[in-house]
Amino acid sequence: MAEKVLIIGSGPAGLTAAIYAARGGLNPFMVEGMERGGQLMITTDVENYPGFPDGIMGPDLMEQMRKQAERFGTRIISSDVTDVDFSVKPFKVFVGRDVYTAESIIISTGASARWLGVEGEERLRGFGVSACATCDGFFFKEKDLVMVGGGDSAMEEALFLTKFASKVTIVHRRDAFRASTIMANRVLKHPKIDVIWNTVIEEILGDRLVSGVRMRNVMTDEVTDRSTDGVFVAIGHTPNTRVFEGQLDLDDAGYILTEPGASLTSVEGVFAAGDVTDKIYRQAVTAAGMGCQAALDAERWLG
Ligand code: NAP
Repeated sequence: MAEKVLIIGSGPAGLTAAIYAARGGLNPFMVEGMERGGQLMITTDVENYPGFPDGIMGPDLMEQMRKQAERFGTRIISSDVTDVDFSVKPFKVFVGRDVYTAESIIISTGASARWLGVEGEERLRGFGVSACATCDGFFFKEKDLVMVGGGDSAMEEALFLTKFASKVTIVHRRDAFRASTIMANRVLKHPKIDVIWNTVIEEILGDRLVSGVRMRNVMTDEVTDRSTDGVFVAIGHTPNTRVFEGQLDLDDAGYILTEPGASLTSVEGVFAAGDVTDKIYRQAVTAAGMGCQAALDAERWLG
């Protein structure tokens, strides 16, 4: 028999949708994905999620949300969705050779880190190139590091890296950070952090391990090499929507288009919530709020 609600993805949006759908008697089924819990699993302290005045570790927050979803009866499997067919009802969701059917779908597959796409980056990934300071920072004790990006992620990760590194140099392509003032000020005041403005990385250098970066000043075109032990990239994210291409309307960047102020997608009965549809706010708390909306929208649609 078809599921009433099938939720794809298990970050704050998916798990909040699960809590609401379960409490609404919809007996939700979740395909949580191999990267269970989403981006908060690779975050350390979360200081801005309401209800935790002393902060909470990202993975702990996700574990608590998952327990809450399970407590109300959400059934969860840990695979990745490999294909979908939203052209028929009930909708079909493929997980390898298994097919699940559902009357409604909530998509909360989030977004993944973007890479620079420069020479050396892919070859040296895991050998000094990383997009996750909280995962890999520990390996760079007393090392000299470069952080690329000017948003809150770059600030947060640069600050985190100062716990291990001897020095962190942020390389940013403009002359001002995009990050919030509080985060930018923490960085600018930090004795271990320097900033190189108006500069892009053109190549990551190194034979078997990162040994340096080739940088170009975008104002003067001057190219300089600088030695470093590691390069951390924090330049934003790409939505995880590849399996939905051709099934749902997406915007130019691949985000799922939804009705303003609601979670309704271009296919009736399919709802989207969280970073997979939100390129503006991208916060745990906004994703959770959108997950709640999606569950309520699905409940209303199911009638
Ligand atoms: P973001 O805000 O989109 O910032 C991406 C940064 O990378 C920008 O500074 C951008 O430069 C730069 N960039 C993009 N492509 C680049 C390229 N190819 N080469 C060099 N630089 C490039 O992304 P984010 O920092 O991941 O943050 C995403 C969202 O999460 C934001 O809403 C942020 O506020 C939120 N967030 C919040 C917290 C917190 O509150 N604690 C922590 C992390 C993230 P330009 O500025 O020139 O575009």
